[in-house]
Amino acid sequence: MTWETGRVVRFRYVRDGRAFWTLPATVVEDRDVLALWIAPGSPMRRPDPPRMPIADLAAGRWAPVATQWQGDGVLMLRTPEARHAIWLFWHPDGRFRGWYVNLEEWWRTEDGVDAFDHQLDIWVHPDGHWDWKDADDLAESVELGMFTPEDALTIRGEGERVMLEWPFPTGWEDWRPEASWPLPQLPDGWDVV
Ligand code: MG
Repeated sequence: MTWETGRVVRFRYVRDGRAFWTLPATVVEDRDVLALWIAPGSPMRRPDPPRMPIADLAAGRWAPVATQWQGDGVLMLRTPEARHAIWLFWHPDGRFRGWYVNLEEWWRTEDGVDAFDHQLDIWVHPDGHWDWKDADDLAESVELGMFTPEDALTIRGEGERVMLEWPFPTGWEDWRPEASWPLPQLPDGWDVV
């Protein structure tokens, strides 16, 4: 299954059998790397506010609402089997802003991509310095039983592996979306898992 450039697919983060995030994404390239573009202002369903106490996440005390993707667009790169995605961000004036390594498990569905977020992330700045993000969230998730201590070590290990491998720059830093791509719609029912 290969998706053609410009096709709109469904992108979701799922958790506990429910869609946590649901939004449309445009296929940029589907070869060795699957590159998906989330356009600024894309219609989206997600909990509001987006950040919540980990205890609420653990207890399933969240409900997605209709909203829009906030801020600038993001290009997401995924390779098969990898337990992470690399997100590229740009400033409004088009300057490259940095890479965000989202540690996650992901898989293709008939309509797009589903993923399960692993809490811990890494910000990599254009000058090459990098920081872990949300390490406290992962630690708290372990305390609350959402991940085992072994899971947490594996998740952190994947981040360390990516930093050693150092896949930056990715070759996509000067990429820009096609001006002709319309803002995609979010069909009813896409959030039904
Ligand atoms: Mg994450």
